Amino acid sequence: MKRHYLALIISVIFITSVLITSCKNASITIEASSDNKNEFMLGSILWIQTSAEARAMYYQSFNLAAMRLDKSLKEYRGLKKPAVVLDIDETVLDNSPYDVRIYRENKLYPEFWKEWIESTAAKPVPGVSEFLAAAKSLGADIFYITNRKEEFRDATLKNLSAAGLPNADDKHLLMRTKENNKQSRRISVAEEHEILLLIGDNLGDFDDVFQGKSVVERAAAVDSLRDLFGKRFIVLPNPMYGDWLDAIYDYEYSKSEKKKAELRKKYLTDF
Ligand SMILES: [Mg+2]
Repeated sequence: MKRHYLALIISVIFITSVLITSCKNASITIEASSDNKNEFMLGSILWIQTSAEARAMYYQSFNLAAMRLDKSLKEYRGLKKPAVVLDIDETVLDNSPYDVRIYRENKLYPEFWKEWIESTAAKPVPGVSEFLAAAKSLGADIFYITNRKEEFRDATLKNLSAAGLPNADDKHLLMRTKENNKQSRRISVAEEHEILLLIGDNLGDFDDVFQGKSVVERAAAVDSLRDLFGKRFIVLPNPMYGDWLDAIYDYEYSKSEKKKAELRKKYLTDF
């Protein structure tokens, strides 16, 4: 009986110490994660990397793009060669492994960006390879207009080639100039080509009218051009980053993390 009593006491002490230790670990984990500058990105990265809905949305977008391009090409009577213009990041190439890295290391862009681009390991997003092969076979030229810096040209071309994507050459790749705005690069493509379709994950990939606008103004600009979406403009999902987030920060990325977190909460709408 005495032995049983002793065993019971030892068990209680053991279980209590395990509970205390695990609670301590849990609090350490919570503290660490709340210190993570990118904690708010976790859901969006998971959604892009794991949800079948994200895959379905890419297929849906490129199926629609193929239908629209086919229709536009049949109706086109111009003399210029037809073209499709695409952004690269989160439109053609999936950079979500990069976002995982900065999340895990608690760093901000551009930390690790050079290493990631130069790895040339980015995979094409679902459906883009098939769409671009079809667009090319229908007679369209493919142009990539990206805000990657000129220093990443060779690595970007290498990655596009490794992914088996068409027109992966200097002529069809327009890197970032002095400005982020892509309008002048679209105009230069349009000098010799008729742009029938633009594809991107960011409104700046489509038209100048969206550039530098506030959260409210962006919504109004989209409303004013609503008929173009799903026709001339094909939008892909990017819940991880983009002008939608920059607009929340008033386009000032140098703001403190505390201020950015406050602004993110400010724009939430409750019932
Ligand atoms: Mg992009």
